[in-house]
Amino acid sequence: MSEKNFSYQCSICGNHYGTTSVKYTCPQDGGNLNVILDYDAIKEEFTIQDILAQRDSSLWRYLPLLPVNDPGGEGTPLRMAGGTPVYQPGGIAEMLGLKYFWVKDEGRNPTASFKDRASAVVVARAREIGAEVVVTASTGNAGAALAGMSAAVGQKSVIFAPKTAPQAKVAQLLVFGAQVILVDGSYDEAFDLTVQAADEFGWYCRNTGYNPFTVEGKKTAAFEIWEQVIMDITPKCQPLSIFVSVGDGNIISGLHKGFKDLVELGWLEHMPRLYGVQASGSAAVANAFFANTEVITPVSANTIADSISVDLPRDGVRAVRAANETRGSYVVVEDQEIIKAIAALGKVGIFAEPAGATAYAGMLKALEEKLVQPDQPILVLNTGNGLKDVKAAMQAVQAAPIIEPSFTALKKHLKK
Ligand SMILES: *Cc1c(COP(=O)(O)O)cnc(C)c1O
Ligand SMILES: [Zn+2]
Repeated sequence: MSEKNFSYQCSICGNHYGTTSVKYTCPQDGGNLNVILDYDAIKEEFTIQDILAQRDSSLWRYLPLLPVNDPGGEGTPLRMAGGTPVYQPGGIAEMLGLKYFWVKDEGRNPTASFKDRASAVVVARAREIGAEVVVTASTGNAGAALAGMSAAVGQKSVIFAPKTAPQAKVAQLLVFGAQVILVDGSYDEAFDLTVQAADEFGWYCRNTGYNPFTVEGKKTAAFEIWEQVIMDITPKCQPLSIFVSVGDGNIISGLHKGFKDLVELGWLEHMPRLYGVQASGSAAVANAFFANTEVITPVSANTIADSISVDLPRDGVRAVRAANETRGSYVVVEDQEIIKAIAALGKVGIFAEPAGATAYAGMLKALEEKLVQPDQPILVLNTGNGLKDVKAAMQAVQAAPIIEPSFTALKKHLKK
């Protein structure tokens, strides 16, 4: 099957490129490339109803809006990425006095994080271009997602992760049968090594904020929010405010791209507001946003939320724009607030890893700072499942008591 009709535009210099001339980033300035779809052709061929009528509830229901062909792999986890539920936790809404409140749970993806969206679409691209090996650097989740999506269809994958990655994430990489290389260094160092290895060995590189297809996968979450939430809000209601944690800035850029695609197609009237949330120990994008610049100055990252612990965000420019162009903002939270947020979400039955709970902590702070009002519709994205990092979860709760296995001991304990 031939490639779909699309092109690239650099997010820095605005230059246009054909898909045969460039593979990853702008040759002029290293800027991330935006995928430009043939919107007129899509509009001519499809209506909103065509999309809504699809029986497939995974992200592949949006295939007409993706720059890849159907990757096959029916009946495998590759076909189950996306299609995550939105909850309306009444307990939280009541406690905070929120009129409309949703949590979209990305922990329900096949490998338990948002990253499956990107990896599914990158694997589809890899198959289309006949790549033998796909490689990525990862703090853990992107690798687990690539390893899992690859394993689903027999694609070979190589994953570079920092040796400090949480155990559960490393276990996923190994169980999915990827070639795993742990780097005695930071995610950023693993990133650079991966790019070099891909160039040298001809591997297809999925790196976040480098491969233009990750954003195309991640934008499908915006499509789902559009279908699951925005269509239900009455038109006179205020625009939806979406809270999402930010590391490299590729998820928030992906959400922005998805909503922009819908506006371009004439299928969405009011752009939602995007609020990026960063940990105070890893806040390079927020720093740039507040300094009103697109120049991203690296930090020396240190936070319990390993998935958003990034020295130099690789998609920082678009991440700053995502908040600016949607009249959203950035919020910075402390690790202590992230740990508390794990417990708060847990109490309504949602188990989030630290980076997932970060978005909720940011929403609380935004309410406090009056960036959003309780009568505005608010959605929090939980980007990863709590089982990914059990050690962090245990910091959010009190240890359980241990008693002798006797009824006397039980009664004595319950009386306390
Ligand atoms: C990767 C990740 C993020 C951050 O995404 P970026 O694109 O790096 O900003 C947030 N939460 C989880 C669970 C992740 O795995
Ligand atoms: Zn450029």
